[in-house]
Amino acid sequence: MQKLIREFSRLPSLGEKSATRLAYYLVNNHRELALSLATALRDAAEHVKLCKQCYYLSEDDLCVICRNPGRDSSILCVVEKPADLMAIERVGEYRGLYHVLHGLWAPLRGQGPESMKLAELVARVKTGAVREVIVATGSTVEGDATALYVARLLGEMGVKSSRLAQGMPKGGELEYADEVTLSRAFSGRTVLG
Ligand SMILES: [Zn+2]
Repeated sequence: MQKLIREFSRLPSLGEKSATRLAYYLVNNHRELALSLATALRDAAEHVKLCKQCYYLSEDDLCVICRNPGRDSSILCVVEKPADLMAIERVGEYRGLYHVLHGLWAPLRGQGPESMKLAELVARVKTGAVREVIVATGSTVEGDATALYVARLLGEMGVKSSRLAQGMPKGGELEYADEVTLSRAFSGRTVLG
């Protein structure tokens, strides 16, 4: 039990108190859920990897979005993390492809451009198949800094980029934005360069 509580406490935003409650909930009263959860976790940890093209989560080399012939491969939407991509997909209006950075440019936290999948984005754009890039990082200081940095890189390559409209609350994390807000942010994009 102590080990389980300790492992739960290592999860983001789960203090020792919640970890303890969760551990007892599963082991004392919901043993079946505990077992199916364990199986699901193992399956995901063993089989889910990153898509070779966009770095979204996938069980195959290419994710379901990159494999979909109905998507427009000339438009890329750049997001910070998989949860942001999922939020945009829930709105169901965007028909292009994605590029997941897996990080933001955060010099104050010692995270430089090399800490995200930026070189991979540049390489992808260099193939010439991409016509437009939408930078959909959250409206935080780091999200803004990343958007400007990405736009400058793309501008040097002659690719136009835009940023989601700032309709989202300042400091807003994309993954928590509701669908109407996200949809509006998409249609009211601002050109970066
Ligand atoms: Zn993909």
